[in-house]
Amino acid sequence: MTVPIENKALTSPLLTLVIPCYNEEEVIAETIKRLNSFCAELVNLDVELIVVDDGSRDRTRELLKSYAAENANVRLICFARNFGHQIAVTAGIDAAGGDAVVLIDADLQDPPEVIHAMIAKWREGYDVVYATRTERPGESAFKIATARGFYRLLNKLSDVAIPLDTGDFRLMSRPVVDTLRAMPEHDRFVRGMVSWVGFKQIALPYKRAQRFAGVSKYPLRKMLRFAIDGILSFSTKPLQMSVALGMFCAFFALLGIVYALYLRVFTHIWVEGWTALMIAVLFLGGVQLICVGILGEYIGRIYNEVKNRPLYIVQEYVGFNEAGPEMSRSPAVKKNDV
Ligand code: UDP
Ligand code: MG
Repeated sequence: MTVPIENKALTSPLLTLVIPCYNEEEVIAETIKRLNSFCAELVNLDVELIVVDDGSRDRTRELLKSYAAENANVRLICFARNFGHQIAVTAGIDAAGGDAVVLIDADLQDPPEVIHAMIAKWREGYDVVYATRTERPGESAFKIATARGFYRLLNKLSDVAIPLDTGDFRLMSRPVVDTLRAMPEHDRFVRGMVSWVGFKQIALPYKRAQRFAGVSKYPLRKMLRFAIDGILSFSTKPLQMSVALGMFCAFFALLGIVYALYLRVFTHIWVEGWTALMIAVLFLGGVQLICVGILGEYIGRIYNEVKNRPLYIVQEYVGFNEAGPEMSRSPAVKKNDV
């Protein structure tokens, strides 16, 4: 009798590369060349490329379509308009079929060769391998300084530790990808969401290359929007600060009231009507600030609820059947063998 060989043993694990592109006609040919030679070097690993055209208005889409037509492992997602880098990356993650997924920019600032080291770490058992920039040649001093400041501020404000100087260039295992897909929030700050998820994560230092051609698609306005999304999605501290400010002002208002009463009762330095006016203004000011703070606390809670993130993420269940307990609120997490 022949023993059926399990299908899994015959196929290699699948790696998905997600590549967001927006008006990248100048770099796309070179990117494809570099990615093709990277794919050729892979051993014991199948690869699929998911390219997301984020509503490009140049020849990017045309070039990508002919690339997809020539290569069976290339899939293309074309957006109806520009939705932004984070949404493009999300669409790629949603469509990815791989046992591991790598997010990589199209402009070759993230060298594809670094992915080999990511795969090695994944094979060691890490779920997230994020590439941390040690150098950023070719970027303006202003961009480098603001990015440094931003990551440090974000870490101070956020309850989740988000790695410093780290972009979206990273490898994620299937369980992490499934968890991200269970997070439906609209203002997406993907690198923070991946930190929030947990699992076994490790940094991989790398030297960021210069953009191969073209210009950055992240003008200052988009950068600011992105920074605000990051802070607001991962911190309700700004809201809590309004409570602290309210309390602080109310305390001084109280002192002011005591002072106004003291002048009125014990001295002759007062103008008719001044005491009552001062008390009213200070009292109302203090009460209003505290009320705004209380509203802020509730808004913070509503905000957390509408994000609708899973309450907790289970890495594994022991002693349950494979799918875990029936009532779990965590997305089902299954670890594939590498
Ligand atoms: N990108 C995108 N949609 C956008 C802006 C950028 O898909 O609205 C892509 C872009 O094509 C590139 C990646 O996101 O592959 C990173 O963008 P960029 O290199 O312009 O940003 P920078 O590296 O300057 O921060
Ligand atoms: Mg870039």
